[in-house]
Amino acid sequence: MPTPKKSRRETEELLMLRALNPRINLSDKDGRKYYTLEKGYQGEVMFDAITQELKNNCIVLNGLLFKLKEKHFQIDTVIIFQKTIYLIDVKNFEGDYIYKSDPDRFCKNDTEIDDPILQLLKAESKLRQLLEEYRFNLPVESYVVHISPTFTLYNAPQNNHVILPTQINRFIRKLENIPSNLNGGHERLADLLISLDQGDYPNPPKPTYSYDGLKKGPYCSKCNSFSVSVGERKMVCNTCGCEERMESVVLRCVWELVLLFPERRITVNLVYEWCGDRVSKKLIHRVLVENYKACGKKKYTYYV
Ligand SMILES: [Zn+2]
Repeated sequence: MPTPKKSRRETEELLMLRALNPRINLSDKDGRKYYTLEKGYQGEVMFDAITQELKNNCIVLNGLLFKLKEKHFQIDTVIIFQKTIYLIDVKNFEGDYIYKSDPDRFCKNDTEIDDPILQLLKAESKLRQLLEEYRFNLPVESYVVHISPTFTLYNAPQNNHVILPTQINRFIRKLENIPSNLNGGHERLADLLISLDQGDYPNPPKPTYSYDGLKKGPYCSKCNSFSVSVGERKMVCNTCGCEERMESVVLRCVWELVLLFPERRITVNLVYEWCGDRVSKKLIHRVLVENYKACGKKKYTYYV
């Protein structure tokens, strides 16, 4: 059972949109972006759960962003076997699409999506170039995996590089039956790919928001409801009944502030205001002291 040698993280753009979503009416553009990114990420996580169950000797790397000739390209999953590298792109489209060619695309009502295979083949060719540059010459095989069980593609052309939802089990069995014995060379290759990973796109697009335009107060981490009862030790959601320790509520609020307003100094007063004046300053102070480093003096104290 391979634990991924590199695990997946949300991009900063997704984290920001996720943090903003309960506190503001996202613009149509940001709303669509959020939906697409969140869905894509959930699909990738679903696929990660499957690759974790592989029992043969392989190395799994999740969520890689490379740079080749000044251009970025992204790979959802790389699996290194003894004789082959698998490159996998996970798609989480839902519902019924019709395949149309010239140019190759998926259509649903008035939505059109470029056939992901085009992007996959580009990524495959770039990964090959990257491997050649570092004198690794394992062959690369690439696949698009459609993870959502509700996805149907009418008129789909026969393509061995496309794994439809009903073919996933067979695909996994195929991976599991690949004979594989890894050595130090494979480990070096994995370490090289991890070292080449760029993390996040430089200057990712930022959603539009301002501090004043955001709804203040703690909300339920499960259902996003602001209808919550704040107690001494815990917060209880009036909508779904979910309970959360107050310390965790405060830390979540601080984390949001750091993410959305990196230029602001974290002070007890700022967190108090962000929590909609609903959490005691004494508790906020204690949580900040226990989890962050205090700088400055007395009423000018801020935390990093
Ligand atoms: Zn709730």
